[in-house]
Amino acid sequence: MTRKERYQFVIDYFEQHAPNAETELLYDNPYQLLVAVILSAQCTDKRVNLTTPAIFHKYPTPAKLAEASFDHLFPLIRSISYPNNKTKHLIGMAKMLMEDFNGKIPMTVPELIKLPGVGRKTANVITSVVDQQPNMAVDTHVFRVSGRIGLTLKATTPLAAEKQLIKFFPNNLIHKAHHWLILHGRYVCVARKPKCGICGLRPACKYYQAHPLPATEA
Ligand code: SF4
Repeated sequence: MTRKERYQFVIDYFEQHAPNAETELLYDNPYQLLVAVILSAQCTDKRVNLTTPAIFHKYPTPAKLAEASFDHLFPLIRSISYPNNKTKHLIGMAKMLMEDFNGKIPMTVPELIKLPGVGRKTANVITSVVDQQPNMAVDTHVFRVSGRIGLTLKATTPLAAEKQLIKFFPNNLIHKAHHWLILHGRYVCVARKPKCGICGLRPACKYYQAHPLPATEA
């Protein structure tokens, strides 16, 4: 199977089985998504979703969040990873939004990565989810799954993987492919022991070709 055929197999599979894949973070607007994605670093979406309703209620706009004090915001974030840094990042992010972006969420990667707590991955998520821009956020799941399948070859960094993925996925599918690969990594192609026995990508997967299941389990 050529690399192009491998991509096409993966696209066809997900188009059929996950045509409406989307983020599992709960949000109503770009501001809320930005807060949720910043909080999601090294943390599960489920836990973030338990945390954000209280934050959105108390700080419904960037203007309100920009006025938050560390001591008031911190208790709302305490239960997730790196609460100190994330509290500082959220307040700093909101302040910069008010001072430099008129309180609006910018929709380009170079502008977004100026905000505290926002790296390339977060900026790619925001622009692809909100605006369907062809930007591929490569998190640990995307990195692992695309490497195992063979969508990426010898990519040693998330940026290298990102470049390969956006080269081969059609532009109009990149924003969706991000969710396909994340969800597949979360629920099927899990880190420790991929569930190849229930995976429809086996015919196209390089990892599976090298590690086939015994006939009794396949
Ligand atoms: S066949 Fe196995 S390794 Fe390949 S994508 Fe599916 S779960 Fe992952």
